[in-house]
Amino acid sequence: MASHSLTRGEELTGPHPTETFADGAAHIWLGTSVDEVAPEELALLSAAERNRVRLLHGKSAAASYAAAHVGTRRILAGYLDTDPAELRLGRTLCPECADPAHGPPSVVWPPTGLTFNLSRSDGHWLLAVTAGRQIGVDLEAKPRVDPELTAPLAFTERELAHLRAQTDPAAQRAVFLRCWTRKEAVVKAVGVGLAADLCRIEVHPQLPGPVLVDYGVAPGPGRWILEEPDIGPELYGALAREQGSTGEVLTHEYGVDRLPGA
Ligand SMILES: [Zn+2]
Repeated sequence: MASHSLTRGEELTGPHPTETFADGAAHIWLGTSVDEVAPEELALLSAAERNRVRLLHGKSAAASYAAAHVGTRRILAGYLDTDPAELRLGRTLCPECADPAHGPPSVVWPPTGLTFNLSRSDGHWLLAVTAGRQIGVDLEAKPRVDPELTAPLAFTERELAHLRAQTDPAAQRAVFLRCWTRKEAVVKAVGVGLAADLCRIEVHPQLPGPVLVDYGVAPGPGRWILEEPDIGPELYGALAREQGSTGEVLTHEYGVDRLPGA
């Protein structure tokens, strides 16, 4: 049950984040949304999250948001040995404009060095977890944007040239998604949201990961290791970790019977 009396400075009784995530090691959790989320699962969400579920148009959009957020709470609670409903999640300020609405997500309670990032796409979700370092993740099941229209607005000249050099449509789509997910993962790791000038972030799509990508807001990290997590051939994903993160990246498939600390 939840450690209600936990205060700052006390030892967490669950799997200790600083050991699990030594040297910037990261865990990736891949989840699939369900058609309907049970009332007892919805009860794990915060009032703000439940409100968001109510406001989402369409049953599947609402269920997919709810499933991802229930899964995120269960996983984070597993690492922290607390109750998923007791977790308080919030956001830290955007390092660029200090807007708390789109800053990086954070665990507000219990006190922890655990950091995480969540991405959802077309009935799938991907959660990246580490400790003491910023982390970003992006998942794309299907491009939500038109490559022909979006690439010139978001890609560098070198990236555009590489994209246009692809003659096969499948290869072009793969290059587009590699660029897009890498850029989005970096921007999410920095915590500035998609208002960032994507054209300034060179992500080297001609190279398979890991690649180093420069982008940041001082005094935060300015260089990231980008890699493709092992999530199967149908999904495109990118993980951004701080430069110098040498710890292993482990991928897990989410299930209620497969949670950290279980
Ligand atoms: Zn901002």
